[in-house]
Amino acid sequence: MINEGMVNVSYIIATILFILALGGLSNQETARRGNWYGIIGMAIALIATILSENVSANFEYLIVALLVGGTVGIILARRVQMTQMPELVAILHSLVGLAAVAVGYANFMGHGSGFIGIELTIHDIETYIGILIGAVTFSGSVIAFGKLSGRIGGKPLTLPARHWLNLGLLIGAIWFGREFVIQSAAGGGMEPLMIMTVIALLFGMHMVMAIGGADMPVVVSMLNSYSGWAASATGFMLGNDLLIVTGALVGSSGAILSYIMCRAMNRKFIAVIAGGFGTGGGSSASSGDVDQGEVAPIDAQETAAMLAAAKEVMIIPGYGMAVAQAQHTVFEITKTLRARKINVRFGIHPVAGRMPGHMNVLLAEAKVPYDIVFEMDEINEDFPKVDVSVVIGANDIVNPSALTDPDSPIAGMPVLECWKGGTSIVLKRSMATGYAGVQNPLFFEDNSRMLFGDAKETLDEVLKAL
Ligand code: NDP
Repeated sequence: MINEGMVNVSYIIATILFILALGGLSNQETARRGNWYGIIGMAIALIATILSENVSANFEYLIVALLVGGTVGIILARRVQMTQMPELVAILHSLVGLAAVAVGYANFMGHGSGFIGIELTIHDIETYIGILIGAVTFSGSVIAFGKLSGRIGGKPLTLPARHWLNLGLLIGAIWFGREFVIQSAAGGGMEPLMIMTVIALLFGMHMVMAIGGADMPVVVSMLNSYSGWAASATGFMLGNDLLIVTGALVGSSGAILSYIMCRAMNRKFIAVIAGGFGTGGGSSASSGDVDQGEVAPIDAQETAAMLAAAKEVMIIPGYGMAVAQAQHTVFEITKTLRARKINVRFGIHPVAGRMPGHMNVLLAEAKVPYDIVFEMDEINEDFPKVDVSVVIGANDIVNPSALTDPDSPIAGMPVLECWKGGTSIVLKRSMATGYAGVQNPLFFEDNSRMLFGDAKETLDEVLKAL
């Protein structure tokens, strides 16, 4: 057992470690260290909380819960494929939301807070908001999990008068909040609390269902932010400062990430939340109904010859590289070309893959040096000087119709403009569309070649030919 002073000191140390963790994660070179700060901070926080005076009995339950939760977490983390990470993150967010709801109800039903008058009102509002954010996070994350794992279609659900529906749900939540505070002062309040929980669950589901495939990156980061605020609200309910601070860190960093993702996709945050983007199959060009001509295939030997003859090569990785786990072969090819004095660089789109930073993680895993990996903004103007662009399992992020077709579901999203360079070699298995479900005119450009097949297998052949 440790006293309150020790607990506070431990919490301050944990808070500092969490801030250092976030700082570390902002850069690939320091990300690993950042993770360790986070792990150590969380271990300190857990131990201090368990040994604090607040927990004086029932250790056996805590140990069982820790063992069960920890074991499930370890099994999930070991089993999950890199391509399933976004789904895992979404489902973990849902658990934060669920925890906030559970703590809120437990807190309310316990009613042993000892608060009266204005303090009780404030406490009730904390509980109400905590459950509200928790329920929205929970149901929204479950739907996001369904969409990211392909169990639910990516098309946005655009109910008629959906904005009015959202407004109605919001007004309902406020009205029942008032009822809850009034009834709670008289010893009741369960009914409005439960009605609000249902409203919040419906709101979370509707909000994410209304967001189209191509806008999912924003949803992932937004739910990340919500889960932080849900944790923060839980901290207020429990009077736990560390949870308040940690939740606020997650909440605000998630909000900043959402803003960055919106900017990357040239979307307004409010418009994404209101939903309806990414309807799929807008105009003829985007739906792919119109015959766009023939594509020109290429084989591994020709690809190797083109690369060997180039001076400037740009590699554009996308989701397919993650599926094929081709990053190590990509780096072997990069090393071979660089040894022949060919300038090889990587162009990374902010929403490439299925989670923020997906490509950077894969390239870091393959030990690609950071100084040849560039963000889209840094590199887009260089394409006219590039001899060969190798598009590895990327589709939406190199789709010119985002710039030319105002009806396209990805209209307005900046893309990597590889068609402005010499030759674009596109590696994919078929003519299938990408996540946003739109056909890609890049494949039909005169200076495009299609290298069909699994990216890892074809790149292995290219490497051999080189
Ligand atoms: P896309 O989903 O647009 O395209 C991926 C391409 O990879 C597919 O066309 C597929 O074609 C190909 N592919 C799949 N498996 C393989 C394989 N084994 N070998 C070779 N090719 C393969 O991915 P992008 O990275 O271009 O774009 C990301 C998309 O995901 C955007 O629409 C973005 O909005 C969305 N998104 C991004 C998130 C993020 O945070 N980054 C989160 C959620 C969604 P084929 O089947 O023919 O092989």
